Amino acid sequence: MKKFAKLIIPFLFFSFHGSASAENSHTKELMAAIIIDDFGGGTGGVRDFLDGDIPITAAVMPFTENSKEHAEWAHKNGFEVMLHLPMEPKRGKRSWLGPKPITVDLSPKEVRQRVEEAIKSVPYAIGLNNHMGSLAVEDEEIVRVIVEVAKERNLFIIDSGTSPGTKFPEIAKELGVPLLKRDVFLDDISSSSYVRKQMARLARVTEFNGKGIAIGHVGVTGKVCSVGVFESMAEFKERNIKIVPVSKLFSGKLTKKNFVPF
Ligand SMILES: [Zn+2]
Repeated sequence: MKKFAKLIIPFLFFSFHGSASAENSHTKELMAAIIIDDFGGGTGGVRDFLDGDIPITAAVMPFTENSKEHAEWAHKNGFEVMLHLPMEPKRGKRSWLGPKPITVDLSPKEVRQRVEEAIKSVPYAIGLNNHMGSLAVEDEEIVRVIVEVAKERNLFIIDSGTSPGTKFPEIAKELGVPLLKRDVFLDDISSSSYVRKQMARLARVTEFNGKGIAIGHVGVTGKVCSVGVFESMAEFKERNIKIVPVSKLFSGKLTKKNFVPF
């Protein structure tokens, strides 16, 4: 009995108090988030995800015909909703950004107006991530305004990771806004076997770090993405990795206020 107690005490200590060394150990539950971008845009895969039973996080583009409908549908079916903020990329067509994107020619005042309007156009959003944005995320002045608005509205930020030169992490840290970064893109190549391969990468990252974040898409690649994600679930179950809404990965750093829609 004494021997048993000796074994169990360190286990309890790590479970309740946590520590750097416990982060990677099996005493901690492994949690991964799957953010699905581009809701509000194309319809491919939308129904599969929103009527499905995987707790994805729905990132919804603002100002589109379907923004409000998709956000409300997601919320009604119990999915977490984020604002998917369109930001100017280094390359790509303007049309890929949708209406009223954040571009580097805007003044800080205009950026603020657009972000505030975008938040209003996506009901139930409790966080934001960037759509594209390889150019705009490197612009300190623009990123600062976005992070300031996120702070005022109690939104967390997920850096989609479209540029290694992104200013989001340092400015979010400076202003005390909760931020996490995307680990894996699921559907750069549109085939369900590729999506499954990327889901396996998400599983490995999650086993290594204790948590992981993947981003996939509805729209053109949506159907293929949903098939690949659903087909991967058995493996996640086998590896004891739980899929959770992305806010769950902030390990208690979010306040209750984050969950009040504006
Ligand atoms: Zn996007």
